Amino acid sequence: MSAKTKVPAVTPTAKEVVWDVVVIGGGPAGMMAAGRAGERRKRVLLLEKNSKVGKKLLITGGGRCNVTNNKPDVRTMLAKYTKSDQFLFSAFSQFAVAETIRFFSDRGMEMNEEPEGRMFPVTNKAETVWNVLTEYMKAGRVKVQTKANVSGITFNKFLHRVIITLTDGSTISARSCILATGGTSHPETGSTGEGFGWLESLGHEVIKNDAALVPIALKDSWIHSVAGVVLKDIKLTIFKNDIKQQVYKGKLLFTHVGISGPTVLNMSREVGELLTSSEGDEYLKGNAVSKVPKKSDVTIMLDMFPMFDHGVLREKLQTVLTTESNKKIKNSLSSFLPPLLVAPLLELAQVDGETFNHSVRSFERTALVSILKAVPLHVSKLLGKNKAVVSSGGVTLREVNFKTMQSRIVPEIYLVGDVLNINRPSGGYSLQLCWTTGYIAGNSC
Ligand SMILES: Cc1cc2nc3c(=O)[nH]c(=O)nc-3n(C[C@H](O)[C@H](O)[C@H](O)COP(=O)(O)OP(=O)(O)OC[C@H]3O[C@@H](n4cnc5c(N)ncnc54)[C@H](O)[C@@H]3O)c2cc1C
Repeated sequence: MSAKTKVPAVTPTAKEVVWDVVVIGGGPAGMMAAGRAGERRKRVLLLEKNSKVGKKLLITGGGRCNVTNNKPDVRTMLAKYTKSDQFLFSAFSQFAVAETIRFFSDRGMEMNEEPEGRMFPVTNKAETVWNVLTEYMKAGRVKVQTKANVSGITFNKFLHRVIITLTDGSTISARSCILATGGTSHPETGSTGEGFGWLESLGHEVIKNDAALVPIALKDSWIHSVAGVVLKDIKLTIFKNDIKQQVYKGKLLFTHVGISGPTVLNMSREVGELLTSSEGDEYLKGNAVSKVPKKSDVTIMLDMFPMFDHGVLREKLQTVLTTESNKKIKNSLSSFLPPLLVAPLLELAQVDGETFNHSVRSFERTALVSILKAVPLHVSKLLGKNKAVVSSGGVTLREVNFKTMQSRIVPEIYLVGDVLNINRPSGGYSLQLCWTTGYIAGNSC
């Protein structure tokens, strides 16, 4: 007998409250869903295992919260959700970017647009977003029960109720249940993936969860000395065993163990695949078929000045060296580069930083320009789920009705936010999924 058809031991008594809607998980998707259901005058209970809702929301965008991405045209926006766009169309036709901006603006939160369309609250605080959502729930009389750790859900088809069991053994009955337990990234925020097990026992197919949009750790020992340096307008080219792969442009942040920032997060999935895949695969080099060596080396070449070719960059460097001919090269380069990067780059180019500019030799200038155009960053691994911005995987999309967010297996259960298997880049696209799916679930339950 499947879990779906099991009759739970506990059946509601005459006195027992049956909620119209129980939302499990107080992240952005759950809060939006609960608020909207409450606005429609449903009796809503939100269960959150932490002592406070929205723990992950408060650390989004480095504490500033990248709420959405300014792409009001639905099709342009959907193009960012590779392979999921056909599923998401009906949902985004109801509530997309324009509705999100209006939703927050109507509640006193205006947003600023930053490069690549990223939208942040003008306060630059995720707390402002948190306040809007908690006020929204309050206005809809949503009962929020924190420290409520759900251990399982079943569906009683005779009573037509979803039965929610908490770890203390108590049970709660609901006509509809919105599952908003999130994925598995940053588990310390409460997103530990329990929801996936319950969904599997109800008969859903759950695609294996893994880290996605994750910082990259490097083997290079000099990295720890440049932690915190941010580079804008750079180019990153991925190589696997010296074979060129993909090129990315944008912004880079050095961390204590490697690299991060939006551009790096967006390339992390491909880097992960290159690290693990195709050992022993055949590939074409010239006209000959070769085999990829057993151990894959993935290197990222950092071009710090993609706007200049080697010749122009050499001229620029020469101008600095000539105008400051009596200075040491290590001091002159600080006007050219973030100061923390000067020593490691000089070492990589094998140029002595104590050399006076007038004594820098031609081959040393060439070496320096070559390094500035291609700093080799040797990848050791991707950081794990505890550092990932989102996790990949989740409920397979064909099992969800995106007009309502109802499960096609148990229609009394609604699925929102990170529990869904939707690939997306960094840039406000994850939270937009929470606003869209949360609003629609709250609107239809
Ligand atoms: C560091 C970081 C920065 C990010 N920055 C951005 C950004 O700027 N813009 C963007 O678009 N996206 C960002 N994201 C991604 C975004 O935060 C997530 O996509 C989003 O939080 C998912 O929301 P959710 O409501 O689906 O789940 P979650 O936010 O994961 O919330 C799930 C909630 O369910 C609760 N829960 C889980 N299991 C149970 C249980 N058994 N019982 C009761 N409660 C339970 C959890 O405690 C949690 O509060 C970031 C993620 C991280 C980690």
